[in-house]
Amino acid sequence: MRAVVYTGYGVTPVLTRAADPPCPADGVVIAVGATGVCRSDWHAWKGHDPVTLPHIGGHEFAGVITQAGPGVTRWRAGDRVTVPFACGCGRCEYCLAGDAQVCPWQTQPGFTGPGSFAEFVAVHAADANLVPLPDAVDFVTAACLGCRFATAFRAVTAHGRVREGDWLAVHGCGGVGLSAVLIGAALGARVIGVDVSAAALERARALGAEVTVDAGADPAAAIGELTGGGAHVSIDALGSPAVAAASVRCLRRRGRHVQVGLLPEGSVPLPMDLVIARELEVYGSHGMAARDYPAMMRLVADGTLRPGLLVGEVIGLGDAGRALAAMDGPPATAGLTVVRIPLTGTTEPPAESAGS
Ligand SMILES: [Zn+2]
Ligand SMILES: [Zn+2]
Repeated sequence: MRAVVYTGYGVTPVLTRAADPPCPADGVVIAVGATGVCRSDWHAWKGHDPVTLPHIGGHEFAGVITQAGPGVTRWRAGDRVTVPFACGCGRCEYCLAGDAQVCPWQTQPGFTGPGSFAEFVAVHAADANLVPLPDAVDFVTAACLGCRFATAFRAVTAHGRVREGDWLAVHGCGGVGLSAVLIGAALGARVIGVDVSAAALERARALGAEVTVDAGADPAAAIGELTGGGAHVSIDALGSPAVAAASVRCLRRRGRHVQVGLLPEGSVPLPMDLVIARELEVYGSHGMAARDYPAMMRLVADGTLRPGLLVGEVIGLGDAGRALAAMDGPPATAGLTVVRIPLTGTTEPPAESAGS
């Protein structure tokens, strides 16, 4: 197959030929129709998250199953599917409860194994991890869903429990933050975008934020004033000690903070005095399991949610390495770069066609 491979951290990935992935006994091989280029791929390429070299990145994708292992009962070749970025083992107590996003044995194509910057990618424990793709959702749109969008959807709906008319503060208007802005606004929330970048705030307004707040001043005080007591729900979509604390401080009584931005530095102090005095709820959110996708997918298929608005550039596989390397610069506000790959059928010719 054709794949974008890097042989060392920071070494420009090149389009080359690689072995087709073997089909796991409990998994499938998927012909990749489209795959997003995410900052997490860039972190792996830079060596911030160790991977086995040489490596094929890519973890937010959609495509068509070309092979299914003998242990797979729910899927077969020809099914259009997408996958959460964190795939569960399918057997532990968390997976059996539908919470594969916290499976201790989770695998992540593009990190723990070869990813989707390739014509084919393998996914383990297919029965637990695949999500059916409605005909109305094209591959490029679906490639937006697996990472930032599903993460934001779960933060806003499952943890935030945002209702129509609620104030939703989104701190950090990058990829996952803008997804939360779009989802919150589409579900009828009054969204407040918070960022230090004027360009990011402009994007937030374009995607449905009712107001924006400069994170450089005192965002918690500003939000308290403009909402008459604080936000009902607040999300730290950036991940920093100061932002996490500001997100908790901007809540009204009985409000809910959702931590989505990763905190690579480790533990951070939160104003627990306010958590108790105002009876706040504090959640961590790590992606979304396949079980919870259908509710989101219905809203995408009927046009309530329009993740396609988050797509910036659509490129070919040959440009994926360049797109990854371009992330050395400051975060772009233009949107998600998606690689579209023409489907090439199956990984190997069927035996019965030999000689025909
Ligand atoms: Zn991602
Ligand atoms: Zn598991």
